Amino acid sequence: MTPFPDTSVQIDAHTLQGATGVLTVDLDTLAANWKSLESRAVPAECSAVVKADAYGCGLKPVTRKLASVGCKTFFVATLDEAKLAREAAPKAAIYVLNGFFANCGDDFARIDARPVIGDLNELAEWDAFRRTRGWSGLAGIQIDTGMNRLGLTIDEARGLVPRIRQADHGIAMVMSHLACSEDMNNAMNARQLAAFRGIASEFSGVTASLANSSGIFLGSHFHMDLVRPGAALYGLNPTPEADNPMQPVVGLKVRIAQIRNVPKGETVGYGALWHAKRPTRLAIVSAGYADGYFRAASGIEGTRSAQAVVAGQRCPIVGRISMDLMAIDITDVPHGAVRRGHFVTLIGDGLTLDELGHHFGTIGYEVLTSLGHRYARDYRGGVAHDPAASDNKTAPENTSA
Ligand SMILES: *Cc1c(COP(=O)(O)O)cnc(C)c1O
Repeated sequence: MTPFPDTSVQIDAHTLQGATGVLTVDLDTLAANWKSLESRAVPAECSAVVKADAYGCGLKPVTRKLASVGCKTFFVATLDEAKLAREAAPKAAIYVLNGFFANCGDDFARIDARPVIGDLNELAEWDAFRRTRGWSGLAGIQIDTGMNRLGLTIDEARGLVPRIRQADHGIAMVMSHLACSEDMNNAMNARQLAAFRGIASEFSGVTASLANSSGIFLGSHFHMDLVRPGAALYGLNPTPEADNPMQPVVGLKVRIAQIRNVPKGETVGYGALWHAKRPTRLAIVSAGYADGYFRAASGIEGTRSAQAVVAGQRCPIVGRISMDLMAIDITDVPHGAVRRGHFVTLIGDGLTLDELGHHFGTIGYEVLTSLGHRYARDYRGGVAHDPAASDNKTAPENTSA
């Protein structure tokens, strides 16, 4: 038997040596997901939300790939993220969702990023910066329609309408955000749509945007001029009540550090919260909650723990998940099918992010943005680029901004 019978692990042995496992990001599948959302949204423009390191998938490789297949507008949360996006997409429009602060105007100007402004004082600061610098950069305006997070009130937005008759008014987009888009039957969706349509129609000639991933699936009247998918690009299900229309992008395999036999009656892990009811064979694998595998998914008796796929078979996690390790019950896997050094699958092979989110007591979004930094990253289908440019590497380094 070869040490790595799993041919899907294609990463050089040296990189692998220092890592807890291999996180695979399939950029071709990501691009296919973007294209399928684009064709659903057409004639609206399809942008891409790449905040939070592209939901843990790597901001630069993701942005570069999507730009190469025709995505022209990107959304990030912070200015630091915008800098990375600019390096990956020199010509794209880049919006910074968390907005503008007076002391960072020069950075916005230098990388030509567009703040999404949601407060009249913030707008005044941005205007003051543009005036003093003689800069004619653009911005988006966020309008609150019920989320009560960021955004001008509808009345405040109405006060800005006369401005768009001025030359160099600077407003490239008006947008709002849906609070309940993943729940198709929630009446809030129609209320927010009506409120946003009313105010957006007064900003004639300005791009209007409302829909996130799930919003795209609420119907074409939600698409307006531009849609803003994030989660669905990375394979999360935008329609939780139905089958997932997206393809999985992320896979995670970790190595077996040890295989051990546990006699009947013994306990496993911190707190001794799991007892072997039969002679049990365990695979101890090298990932834990420090790698973003939430402790909430532990195999405590009386609860349904998360599972791993070992030699093609689903096996339960048993005992408490520790910081760097966890135990998988492989008693039912044929002897000889696995041994120390082999990989087990934690994401992929039918184990979905949404399912894992359920076990973690959260949503697939948080599973992705929690993915640890000790994995070797294996990007498939990447776009060739200037090797001198700094980048997300395949080494298990901290890739967060
Ligand atoms: C994060 C975010 C999105 C993307 O949402 P998904 O549900 O991941 O598609 C869109 N718009 C705004 C304002 C956001 O903050």
